[in-house]
Amino acid sequence: MSALIQQLNPEQRAAVTLPAENALILAGAGSGKTRVLTTRIAWLISTGQVTPAGILAVTFTNKAAKEMMARLSAQLPIPVRGMWIGTFHGLCNRFLRAHWREAGLPQTFQILDIQDQLASIKRLLKALNVDDERHPPKQVQWFINGAKDQGLRPGDVEARDPQSRQLAEIYLAYEAQCTRDGVADFAELLLRSYEILRDNAAIRSHYRQRFRHILVDEFQDTNRLQYQWLKQLAGPEDAQGACVFAVGDDDQSIYAFRGAHAGNMDDYQREFRVRHLIKLERNYRSHGHILDSANTLIANNARRLGKNLRTEAGAGEPVRVFEAPSDYAEAQWLIEEIRQLLREGLVHSEIAVLYRANALSRVIEGALFNAGLPYRVYGGLRFFERAEVKHALAYLRLLDNPQDDTAFLRVVNFPARGIGARTLEQLQDAARLRATPLSEAVDALGGRGAASLQAFLDLVAQMRFQTAAISLPELVRHVLEASGLNAHYREEREGQERLENLEELVNAAAAFVTQEGFGLQATAQQRQALGAAPDSFAATDGIDPATGETLSPLTAFLTHAALEAGDNQAQNGQDAIQMMTVHAAKGLEFDAVFITGLEEGLFPHENALSETDGVEEERRLMYVAITRARKRLYLSLAQTRMLHGQTRYNLRSRFFDELPAESLKWLSAKLPGFGGGFGADQHSSWSYTPKVSVPSFTPATSNAGSPSSTGFSPAGVRGASSSGARPHGLRIGQAVFHNKFGEGVVLSLEGNGEDTRAQVKFNRHGAKWLALNIAKLTPVN
Ligand code: ATP
Ligand code: MG
Repeated sequence: MSALIQQLNPEQRAAVTLPAENALILAGAGSGKTRVLTTRIAWLISTGQVTPAGILAVTFTNKAAKEMMARLSAQLPIPVRGMWIGTFHGLCNRFLRAHWREAGLPQTFQILDIQDQLASIKRLLKALNVDDERHPPKQVQWFINGAKDQGLRPGDVEARDPQSRQLAEIYLAYEAQCTRDGVADFAELLLRSYEILRDNAAIRSHYRQRFRHILVDEFQDTNRLQYQWLKQLAGPEDAQGACVFAVGDDDQSIYAFRGAHAGNMDDYQREFRVRHLIKLERNYRSHGHILDSANTLIANNARRLGKNLRTEAGAGEPVRVFEAPSDYAEAQWLIEEIRQLLREGLVHSEIAVLYRANALSRVIEGALFNAGLPYRVYGGLRFFERAEVKHALAYLRLLDNPQDDTAFLRVVNFPARGIGARTLEQLQDAARLRATPLSEAVDALGGRGAASLQAFLDLVAQMRFQTAAISLPELVRHVLEASGLNAHYREEREGQERLENLEELVNAAAAFVTQEGFGLQATAQQRQALGAAPDSFAATDGIDPATGETLSPLTAFLTHAALEAGDNQAQNGQDAIQMMTVHAAKGLEFDAVFITGLEEGLFPHENALSETDGVEEERRLMYVAITRARKRLYLSLAQTRMLHGQTRYNLRSRFFDELPAESLKWLSAKLPGFGGGFGADQHSSWSYTPKVSVPSFTPATSNAGSPSSTGFSPAGVRGASSSGARPHGLRIGQAVFHNKFGEGVVLSLEGNGEDTRAQVKFNRHGAKWLALNIAKLTPVN
C-alpha cells in the first residue's frame, strides 16, 4: 500500500488517508485531484476499510470512468468491472435497470439521446397542433431538460403567464408520450432515480447501508439535481450514512449555462458539515509559462475561493501566439506547427486542437485532411449518432420494444416502402384516439396504407423470430440485411462509407459482447469477489431481483449505444490528433495544446458578453483550456473568418490583455499588416519586411516582399490603379473610422473596383487589411 501513496506530496497524502468523514479537496488544475481520488479508492480498499461494493465514484465522462478503472485495476488485484464507477447518467441508468418496477419503466426501457428527444418533441408538437414558431422544438427541449435538471415535474413548474403555462402542458404531454413509448431521456434517468431514493424508504436505506464511501470528481460542475441525488444517497451524517469525498476547482466551473451550480460547493461544506478542507497547490502538469498564463488570466475573476498554483517544472517554452489574416491562414499555420512538433518527436495523440464552438472545427479539419495528418474529432457527430447507424439502432430497438414510437417512425418508411405521410398521420391519429402505441393502431386503418404498415410489422416480427437464438453480432448483421438497409446503401452512390459504418456496428456489437461482458452485468463470480450483499437488492447489475432474469445482450447494447455515444468506435486505435471543444477537454491533458479562434465574440462568446457572470464563465473556460497543456501551448486568432455563411471581422480576444506579456511569444510579427496592436514591438510590426505571403490576401499583382510595399512613403502606393481614383475616396495617409476597430490611417491600397483592399493602421488594434466592398470605412477629416 505504501507504494500507492509514496509518490504523493504531503497534502495529497493527507487527503488520500483522511478518516471516514466528509471532505472537500479544493485545488487548481493539474494539482492531482483526480489522482488523489483514485488513490483514495485504492487505499480504502487495500486497507480493508471498505469492500469494492461499498464504493460509489462519480466521474464527469465515460472516458474518465474507464481511466479510473484502468488505474485501479493496475493498483489492486480485484475485478473492477462491477464497481459503481461512472457518470451520473451511467450510474442512474444502472440503478433504474435494477429498480425498473419501482421506476414504472418497462424492463427494456430505451434511452432517448438528444436527437431522439428532439424528434420525439417535434412529433408531439405536431400532434398537439402547437405552432412551432411560437414554441420552437429546441426551445421546448431546453425548457423540459432545464425543469428536470432542477428536479421539477410539470406540476411543479411555476407558470404565471400563458406562454409558460403552455410549456408546462407540453411538458406534461411529453411525459405521457415517453411513458407510452417506454423510453427515458437523459435528464429523466437522474430525476427518476432521485425520486425513488426520496420516496422509497426500503431502497433508500439499502443503498445508504451499501455505499460507505461516495467520491465525486469535478464537483464544481454538479447541478442542483445531482447534488440532491448525492444527498439522498449519502444520508444524514449522524445516521451512519456514507461519507462523501468531493474534489473540485471553482475556477473550472464551466457548466453554469446547463444548470451547474458552483454554489453547491458552499452548500456542501455547510450541509454535509465538512470537517476536512484540503488545498493542493503544486501543479504537476504544466511548465512555468503555461501555468503563469493560467494564473494571471484567472486572477481577473472577482469571485473566487482563492487558490494558488506553483510548479517545479521550470519555465519551459513561452506560449506562442499567432494572429492570422484569415481562418484558412490560421489553419495553415497550425499544420506547420504540428508538423514541427511531430518532427520533434511528439505523437499525434499528444497534440490537441481546442475551440470554443464545434462550428470552428471545419476549416481546421479540412486543412488536416489535406495535409494527410490523422485526426479525430470528439463530440461532433459521434458514431452512434450517424444517420445510418441510428436507422439500424431503430430496427434493433423495435425488436426489443415494439412500443417505441420514435424508433417506429424513424424506419417505418426507411428504406422506402411506399408508406406515405398521410398514412402515418392517420396512424398517429388512430393511436392517439385509442391511447396505444403506433404498432397497435394499424388495424384501425384500411386500404393500401394499412397493408404496407402491416407488412412492416410482419417484417419486424419476422426479424425478431429469426434472431431469437443467435448471438448479438449475428443478430445485428441479420437485421442490417433483412431490414433492407444494406441493400439501400449499396444502391446509393455515396453509400460506401455508410456501409462501412454499418459493418462497424457489427464490430461494435462483437466487441461489446466479448470485452464488456455486456457492460452492465458482472458475473456471479465477480459479484462475489466484489462482496455484494446477498440481499433483496443485490441485483444492481442488471438482474431482476424478482425473477433472476438478466438484461438481454441486445438491451444492454442499446443502452451502451445511447450512453456512450460511441466515442470508442470508428477509431481503430489510430494515433490521431485530438480535436474537441474546450468543454470536452475538461480533466484531460496533452503535451501540446492549440487554442484557436481567440476572437472577441467567439471566445469569449458573444452570448456571454451581455451577462454579468458570462464573461467570468468564459474566462474559467479559457483557464480550463490553458491548463490542459503540459509542455507547449499555442494561441491563435484570425482577423477574418467565415462562419455560418458570413465573413466576420473579429477583434482580438480580450484574454490576450489578461495574459502575462513576458510569457508570450508573438509569432505574427512576421506578418506585416496582420499583427500588431499589443505593446510597442507588435505595434511596429507593420513596418517590417514581409516574409510570409498569405494567399487569400495577396493580390495577383502583388509585389509583397519588396521593401517599398509598406510604410508611409509614397513608394508604398501600389496597385494597378493608374488613375488613382478609388471607391470610397480613400488615399494613402487618409484618416478613417471603422465602427469596430475605431480610428486609423490608410497605409496602402491594392486592387481595383470590387476587389480593392486597404491596409489600415488602427490606433488601438494595429494594422489590418480590409476588403473595401465589405468593410465600412468613413473618411475622417
Ligand atoms: P484537473 O483539474 O485538470 O482535472 P487534476 O487536479 O485532476 O487536474 P490530475 O489529472 O490528477 O490533476 O493530475 C495532473 C497530472 O499530474 C497527472 O498527469 C498526474 O499523474 C500528475 N501528478 C499528480 N500528482 C502527482 C505527484 N505527486 N507526482 C507526480 N505526478 C503527479
Ligand atoms: Mg481532474
